[in-house]
Amino acid sequence: MSTGTQQWRVGDATITSVVEDEIAHIPPEFFFPAATAAEVARHPWVVADYADPDGNITLRVQALVIRTGARTVLVDPCVGNFKDLMLPFWANQEWPFMERFADAGFRPEAIDTVVHTHVHADHVGWDTRLVDGTWIPTFTGARHLYTAGDLEFARVTADEPNARYTYRDSIRPILDAGLADEVADDADLGDGLRLEPSPGHTPGHVSLWLESAGERALVTGDFMHHPVQFAEPDWAEIGDADVDVARATRHRMVRVAAESGALVIGTHFPTRPAGRVVADGEVWRFVPEP
Ligand SMILES: [Zn+2]
Ligand SMILES: [Zn+2]
Repeated sequence: MSTGTQQWRVGDATITSVVEDEIAHIPPEFFFPAATAAEVARHPWVVADYADPDGNITLRVQALVIRTGARTVLVDPCVGNFKDLMLPFWANQEWPFMERFADAGFRPEAIDTVVHTHVHADHVGWDTRLVDGTWIPTFTGARHLYTAGDLEFARVTADEPNARYTYRDSIRPILDAGLADEVADDADLGDGLRLEPSPGHTPGHVSLWLESAGERALVTGDFMHHPVQFAEPDWAEIGDADVDVARATRHRMVRVAAESGALVIGTHFPTRPAGRVVADGEVWRFVPEP
């Protein structure tokens, strides 16, 4: 896994990836029940950057830091360390994520806003750190944004096995510290940042637009997980809460992304996570930036 800093310029703003983990050779059906490795391998552009030659896929967990104007905004702070989670490759980890965050030039207390595309465990984790047995906020100067739909979703799923302890350990400490704001799913966050509703994966899921000096970028969140879904937009992901709504959102958002000409950054895309969406017959293709 390469953890060298990747950064993209969008007008006068920058977007920097801070990688927590990247896993290769995953059988695609683990995340996409309708998929097979052979079907992934049919798409040469996917194999080039995002899968092995057999069609087993690579996925990344990363946070994005956006600097625009006077703002420093963190998007989707990964899984975190020492989290008591069901998935073995997320549970009780000791990743050097905060060291990479510092190496990329950022300080936790300088983050002014934390955007969550949704409240799954791998998008809220570093909001808290375990200190002397207590989960305390990491980004102490930041407003942490949640949509009403996803806060409710986090509360009602708090006892389900696959959401185990995420609300208790990663979300409630932020609410208790008074660092949380509930925002509309189409909120204008200022400085060229705007949320767009992209529901289905979770009820209140949002994506994030950045506009600066005439250029645009779109951070997907989990309305899609892997670039193969540009070619196979009907493939549902195992975590999609409402498969039909998520599928409709995927078709709509991919078309919007293509027509906008925006730099699209896939939250779980590995290797080269930023690129443009172009038409490829009836479906779409992702053309990564260097
Ligand atoms: Zn998710
Ligand atoms: Zn995710």
